[in-house]
Amino acid sequence: MNNELLCILRGRLLLVTVFAVLGALSKILGSLLYGSRALFVDALTSIANLVALFTALYYLSESMKPPDTDHPFGHMRLRYGGIAAILSIYMFIAGFSAATLYYSSHGYRVEEGSAYAAIIGAAFYAAAIAFSRNLDESIRVYAGFTASELVEASIVVPSAWLGYAKGYLFDLVGATIILLYLFYEAVETHRHLVRAIADISPPSRVYEEVKREARLRGLIPVAIRLRMIDERHCSGDMTVRPQKGITPDIADVLADEVTEELRQRGCDIVIHIDYSKPWIQCKETSSKSST
Ligand SMILES: [Zn+2]
Repeated sequence: MNNELLCILRGRLLLVTVFAVLGALSKILGSLLYGSRALFVDALTSIANLVALFTALYYLSESMKPPDTDHPFGHMRLRYGGIAAILSIYMFIAGFSAATLYYSSHGYRVEEGSAYAAIIGAAFYAAAIAFSRNLDESIRVYAGFTASELVEASIVVPSAWLGYAKGYLFDLVGATIILLYLFYEAVETHRHLVRAIADISPPSRVYEEVKREARLRGLIPVAIRLRMIDERHCSGDMTVRPQKGITPDIADVLADEVTEELRQRGCDIVIHIDYSKPWIQCKETSSKSST
């Protein structure tokens, strides 16, 4: 297992998990014992977040494996398996919650304990969020260790309380808001996943860095294509023409140097050396990539 991952695991993961489990338990028990549907939907999202945490960690560790025969370009994109999983979980609990709310629409009793359980659950979650700061950014987001959990609590606590004091409809409205928020999160997650696998171009500074490394060695870029593999890695190809005086065997060594340098910075680039118009200094304007 990779060092980076070991650090994540050794960090405060255990503490974060314990607080998240306690938070989820308070919400589940509170909603089952005291009847709040708002707290019930919130509890389901907390359980989904726990499942997401471990799925995300599993896929993160898979994504750090070096290239092998069945994945010659590396396993980096396997990290998105965690996002695909959380999307399925969101949809499952969204459907389950919708059915529960539908069958609750005729009326139910909300007891005072619902609001207290919601507050206790939110407090445990606040602790989990505070301790999750040193976790991998993507893990934190997909596992829901973000302020959004506290925003949910700020809806659940008053609606459970009003559900007890004024009538179940207040609680049902709170539950519906949480459910709608769940659909919103699912749409956002879907967008993120599509963006991640859509072969999007890296920012222009990455192109500039790649071209600079080639030019520094007397190789003039004439065409370049790059795509993001994950948030930190890119791959692509580049055609270069050697400057006057660089012989083919030297150009080959220089191209290897550029490839190695860029690989170390997270960009896996295949370089093609174009000898069709040898020894001609290409003007920057002839570069396809500069348009
Ligand atoms: Zn493999």
